[in-house]
Amino acid sequence: MTPLLPGSATLGVLGGGQLGRMFVQAAHSLGYRCVVLDPDKASPAGAVADQHLCADYLDSFGLAQLARDCDAITTEFENVPAIALETLAGMRFVAPSGECVAVCQDRAVEKAHFEKAGVACAPHAVITNEIELAAIDPALLPGILKTSRMGYDGKGQVRVRTPGELTAAWQRLGQVPCVLEQLLPLAAELSVIVVRGADGAIVNFPVQQNLHRDGILAVTEVPAIGVDAALQQQAVASARQVAEAMGYVGVLCIEFFLLQDGRLVVNEMAPRPHNSGHYTLDGCDVSQFEMQVRAMTGLPLVPPRLVQASVMLNLLGDLWFRGGEGPQTPDWAAVLALPGAHLHLYGKAEARPGRKMGHLNLTADTPEAARAVAAQAAAILG
Ligand code: ADP
Ligand code: MG
Repeated sequence: MTPLLPGSATLGVLGGGQLGRMFVQAAHSLGYRCVVLDPDKASPAGAVADQHLCADYLDSFGLAQLARDCDAITTEFENVPAIALETLAGMRFVAPSGECVAVCQDRAVEKAHFEKAGVACAPHAVITNEIELAAIDPALLPGILKTSRMGYDGKGQVRVRTPGELTAAWQRLGQVPCVLEQLLPLAAELSVIVVRGADGAIVNFPVQQNLHRDGILAVTEVPAIGVDAALQQQAVASARQVAEAMGYVGVLCIEFFLLQDGRLVVNEMAPRPHNSGHYTLDGCDVSQFEMQVRAMTGLPLVPPRLVQASVMLNLLGDLWFRGGEGPQTPDWAAVLALPGAHLHLYGKAEARPGRKMGHLNLTADTPEAARAVAAQAAAILG
């Protein structure tokens, strides 16, 4: 593939959320023009793009225009209909492919892919009808029932202890296809971002250690100082295996559980840059968003290097409601007085509890120092 050189090409992205916004910012810094397709008039990425096509993901005119105006196309939204990517691929270079995105959109298909790739995942069973529900092995309980499709940030999940609770939960989820996973004793959660080019070159970012609150990512720390080096290598090797086994092209994030008995199992993956990779904007010499640009344009994929120890704090809309009354802007001036604090806000007009408004990266020479400044930031934010 002849690379689409910076300064002379236009890149398209399906989806206009914060991931698309940071993609556009990275592409702009390399001199590319950007077109965003998103149905929302007020999308964070549409606001910074050279052109915003305000259209549905299945609108054939919108897709044709995106293909006409762009030299290569990617996605920032995991639930974009795979058929939209396949349609575009008939007209332009698209990465990742609709086929790979489709694997990530369905937990049952995703788990089958992990098994095919030879990477262990949680013991689980697929439930699509009452016969499968009745046949569930009680050894999977207590477990977590997850909808196969459209779940994110802990949504579409119910914890169940007994067969009775399982039946009630499946009814509550609307009897849609689900995966029941055994509830595992977690020691830590990790993620690895790999980037693979159309020529098969593959590189990875360092292992990230993640803390979730209420199913939503709250904190990412890199390096993962508490995690044994051999386990980190195993996570990287497994992540590469998962990407290679599906011929993936682009940025792929794979989440892992580290169990209390020391075993590593894969949880899920996202076919795009990931919230747990936002620290790369300030902690690495190349960000996950620049790597997304490089992968889709055929530019060289250099192995990313961590240049500063980093802690990323997710900034949810809840922070705007700390005073108890109406929304109040957090004290950004105090936060930015901390050395190594890098604030990224996504330009969303309205703060709502649970809504991802931005993130704060804290960088320092040592992991301990990054943690200390993150603790100070957290204290200011309340
Ligand atoms: P989402 O798509 O919402 O991110 P996940 O499957 O990653 O869904 O689940 C969200 C969080 O719930 C995980 O990061 C983890 O903290 C917890 N969790 C999910 N599955 C399990 C499991 N099988 N055992 C223990 N904890 C789990
Ligand atoms: Mg997850």
